[in-house]
Amino acid sequence: MYTSLTNRRSFIKKMAIMSAMTAAATMFPGIIFADEQERDLPNGGDLDWKKGPCRFCGVGCGVLIGVDKGKAVAVKGDPNSSVNKGLLCVKGYHQIMCIQAEDRLTHALVKKNGKYVQTPISEALDIVANKMKETMDTHGKDSVAMYTSGQSTIPEGYVASKLMKGAIGTNNLDCNARLCMASAVTGFLTSFGADEPMGCYEDIDHADYFITWGNNMAEMHPVLFSRMLEQKNRRGAKIIDFATRTTRSSMASNKSILFEPQTDLAVANAICYEIINNGWVNKSFVENHVNFNKGLTDMGYGLEDNYAFEDKPTPIDFEAYKDFLEDYTPEKVSKYSGVSVKDIKYLAEI
Ligand code: SF4
Repeated sequence: MYTSLTNRRSFIKKMAIMSAMTAAATMFPGIIFADEQERDLPNGGDLDWKKGPCRFCGVGCGVLIGVDKGKAVAVKGDPNSSVNKGLLCVKGYHQIMCIQAEDRLTHALVKKNGKYVQTPISEALDIVANKMKETMDTHGKDSVAMYTSGQSTIPEGYVASKLMKGAIGTNNLDCNARLCMASAVTGFLTSFGADEPMGCYEDIDHADYFITWGNNMAEMHPVLFSRMLEQKNRRGAKIIDFATRTTRSSMASNKSILFEPQTDLAVANAICYEIINNGWVNKSFVENHVNFNKGLTDMGYGLEDNYAFEDKPTPIDFEAYKDFLEDYTPEKVSKYSGVSVKDIKYLAEI
């Protein structure tokens, strides 16, 4: 793939082409130039390629940025990155256009006498630093906070930690992941004892089945999805998309199963019911590694006014867990989840 940005129209056209390629999940190696003239440099020009991370999603693809006379002009996937192995998705390829975008912010706006005034960023940073100092002098180190981005690179996170915790001495440092990942992290911690998903990218190269559970990976995490598709095409691994709507992930999967919103936990319970009732439980694993706790099954709805939720898990044994699941037979769950009994049993078999 070899292209450039000339105007809005060609940009949109290219987006459409590249989106279609993404839909077909053909991640492609190539170079994207920010400008037509740069594309016309012989052999892509004599560019100085610098390493960097893609900033769009959390997959963590490595990119190489082509620099010409101190200006970033091109982007390509880093073939030495173990994450994307030289591939990028439509978002990764277009980041070079963001760097060159005409409407990119080049200055800060500082409110002076009630009006926003264009101010050099260095001057605006001095204002922030002085205000922070003033506030800390009056109210102490915990009177200031920094709210950062989940898209920060590791070096940026390091610098932010060093400033807030090392230099200022406060724990008031947080990022948007607190909001977007809070429920997932709580689930991971209580289910697995660690605050991250279990497994690693290399597992993808060995798995026989992938279930994308409420996750449109083809568009949200395209390069990772392309690694799954590679296994599907190369080894016959199967992808089952389990979601509330049909997406590009559903289209690229071997099988798409739709469920009614807010019923997937019941489907998970029905799957466990099937596994236990068919005698497919790995007993020694359960005995050695699994704890069972019973909590509230009706927690109300978190967005209600004055919502309060208090739960105290009570330890139970495997037999009590089995009894609990009696309420989740595939037949019963099928009625309100919209997932057929056959599909619930199919998922349990996998
Ligand atoms: S999958 Fe796409 S958006 Fe996400 S890190 Fe990789 S290139 Fe960037």
